[in-house]
Amino acid sequence: MTSPSVTQALSTTKHQSESSSVRLCQGCELPIDKVDIPLGKSAYCPRCGTQLYRGGTPSLSGNLAIAITCLLLFIPSHFFDFISIRLIGVMIPATLPSGVFTLMNEGFPLLGLLILFCSSIAPLLVCSSVLISHFSLRFGFFTPFRYSLVIIQTLKHWMMLDVFLVSVAISCFKLQDYSDIFVGPGLIGLILLQLFSVLLVSRISVRRYWEAWSKESEYSFIRNKNVHCHNCHLSQPDGHACVRCHHALYHRKPYSIQKTWALLFAAAVAIVPANVIPISILITNGQRLEDTIISGVASLINSDMYGIAAIIFIASIVVPVAKILGLAYILICIQMKRALYHRQRMTIYFIVKWVGKWSVMDLFVISIMMTLVDRGQILNFTPGYGAVAFGVVVVLTMLAAESLDPRLIWDNYTSKDESVNERQ
Ligand SMILES: [Zn+2]
Ligand SMILES: [Zn+2]
Repeated sequence: MTSPSVTQALSTTKHQSESSSVRLCQGCELPIDKVDIPLGKSAYCPRCGTQLYRGGTPSLSGNLAIAITCLLLFIPSHFFDFISIRLIGVMIPATLPSGVFTLMNEGFPLLGLLILFCSSIAPLLVCSSVLISHFSLRFGFFTPFRYSLVIIQTLKHWMMLDVFLVSVAISCFKLQDYSDIFVGPGLIGLILLQLFSVLLVSRISVRRYWEAWSKESEYSFIRNKNVHCHNCHLSQPDGHACVRCHHALYHRKPYSIQKTWALLFAAAVAIVPANVIPISILITNGQRLEDTIISGVASLINSDMYGIAAIIFIASIVVPVAKILGLAYILICIQMKRALYHRQRMTIYFIVKWVGKWSVMDLFVISIMMTLVDRGQILNFTPGYGAVAFGVVVVLTMLAAESLDPRLIWDNYTSKDESVNERQ
């Protein structure tokens, strides 16, 4: 992933879209002449920094092996205990699905579904889609091939096993005062599953699968490329559907600005109850302790857990607010046609996309705490309705980042601005 950029090797050819080897950058539509990239190096757009070609050896069968390993690891990671605690002399085990089902039974079905989707369904669908795409490629089934690649592309941002593992660690720290903690075999399964799924996502390139289906060079007769298929990454002339993958073609995502504004506005409204209403309720010895996000952070500071307080504060308060402000800033600049700092706005866009999933952490912690601490009168833990509002904020901000078309950022970019940007 971190292989050095070879942008200097790429020659930008602004007015040569007639040439057969040219393709358009999917981030900013800059026409770029294809050159041979050294093995193992990735290539990035010299203007906006979007990855154009993925480095590494393009072995598709390696992906298949990793996907099968992941699918096998789903069994130990989901059906064995990942952690057990001894509370009041009783051993309480926790498996990943048990937290979800407790949430659903306690009247929080949507929260349970969100956690199940991010921790299990999305990784499972991505791994199965890799299997289906290989099978379809082998036997030439176009429709399952196309849709399995769409699933991979869409759901890979929703795989949140890494967030879940950090949440397990945080829950352990929170519970260490109340009980003894034991690590179960499920945790090893989860860690292995996380390692292999990260490897899978970092290796998978949808463009490479479409190259295996039919090569870009087979379309070398195409001239006047002025639209880039964002699904299979083939640059081509204007039309209704892509000549290779049949996906609808458009220069910009339809209604991208309106959709993103609508989602951002809804998220900005939902962030108020998410911070005012308690997100968790702990009952100890008949005492009822209601915690909002802020009071939860404050009580962590009071119990000298500064590290965890900082992580929760950043993930639950800073990240959602920064995402809303960052996307709103990009949208305002697009609408005001601001002519400077395009590259900075693109960096904000990349950061917002990458950082989004970490705000789910607090919800994962709640689900883990619920499985472990639900022992009737002496110690009881339930989520508050603030957690539902917070889940809504997380989903809406993630959807907002996905609905924004990054090419809009570069719409009013001229080469005159380039020299200004370079001087910064
Ligand atoms: Zn670009
Ligand atoms: Zn296509």
